[in-house]
Amino acid sequence: MLIAMKPGAPQQEVDKVYAGLMQMGTEVSVIQGTQQCVFALVGDTSKIEAGTFSANQYIEKIMRVQQPYKLASRVFQPLDTVIDISGCKVGGGHKVVIAGPCSVESEEQMIQTAVLVKQYGATMMRGGAYKPRSSPYSFQGTGEEGLQMLVKAREATGLPFVTEVMSIDTFDLVEECADLIQIGTRNMQNFPLLKRAGKSSKPILLKRGMSATLEEFLMAAEYIMAGGNSQVILCERGIRTFDTYTRNTLDLSIIPAIKELSHLPIIVDPSHACGKWSMVEPLAKAAMAVGSDGLIIEVHHQPEKALCDGAQSLKPEKFGKLMTSVHRIMEAV
Ligand code: PEP
Ligand code: MN
Repeated sequence: MLIAMKPGAPQQEVDKVYAGLMQMGTEVSVIQGTQQCVFALVGDTSKIEAGTFSANQYIEKIMRVQQPYKLASRVFQPLDTVIDISGCKVGGGHKVVIAGPCSVESEEQMIQTAVLVKQYGATMMRGGAYKPRSSPYSFQGTGEEGLQMLVKAREATGLPFVTEVMSIDTFDLVEECADLIQIGTRNMQNFPLLKRAGKSSKPILLKRGMSATLEEFLMAAEYIMAGGNSQVILCERGIRTFDTYTRNTLDLSIIPAIKELSHLPIIVDPSHACGKWSMVEPLAKAAMAVGSDGLIIEVHHQPEKALCDGAQSLKPEKFGKLMTSVHRIMEAV
């Protein structure tokens, strides 16, 4: 971290800042220019609150040289993290394709979909039991019963599953049943929930907040990791932009950026990004081409009757077609 004093700041004020830094136990190098003094803080400055210094009228600028995240950073761990989800590996060259309905509606629907997506090559399934809906009048999910339906579908197919947790009160229950616990876009900065996830022994699928910067996204992962759970998989699912044609705008540039900055695996959700089934396959191919560690795709056996997100859900055969073209891209890459 660099702290630049204002040109012409009185020497006694410069000395006060220096003394304050020494008191914090930080190693400080002093760069004395002709007009201005700059302090360079050496070592781990992640716990230093930059705001404390901004309040000082004699300080001109504070610049972080290091990233504020540590555990999630590639500097901290140069090698890719590989996460094992009940035998299904993700990261470090291992790719995962997760498929299934937006929400679990019935045991029959869940098992039928799971059997088909497995047949077409999915290695994990998805299904929301607790649904975060924009309207309180929309279908809210099947809750605990839905979790049991997912368990049944896993028994029938052997596919591990991911499902979303929305609150701390249902965390234990979801944790008991799920192979991978999803924290959705609306909860990416729900800090109590992130802290609870940090105490879990299960891997976490952390979806990017719809207006979160890359740094905020990695800081949310850092919360989980700082709590003791290093098994975090990131998921890009589109962000809010000015365009309204698609549900969100898929930010594929975050994939190579995350690969540079972090060792954590990152997968892509093209379904929630575009909101239209016809755009899911091209975006899925693009995601794999830029280095995504996998995909999470919404599939419904009857999208026209789906209780949630039917417009973006693929019919199982269309998912099969997607898998064929995605495999070709993966081979080419
Ligand atoms: C979901 O995956 O079901 C979901 C609600 O996604 P997101 O949190 O990305 O909107
Ligand atoms: Mn959905």
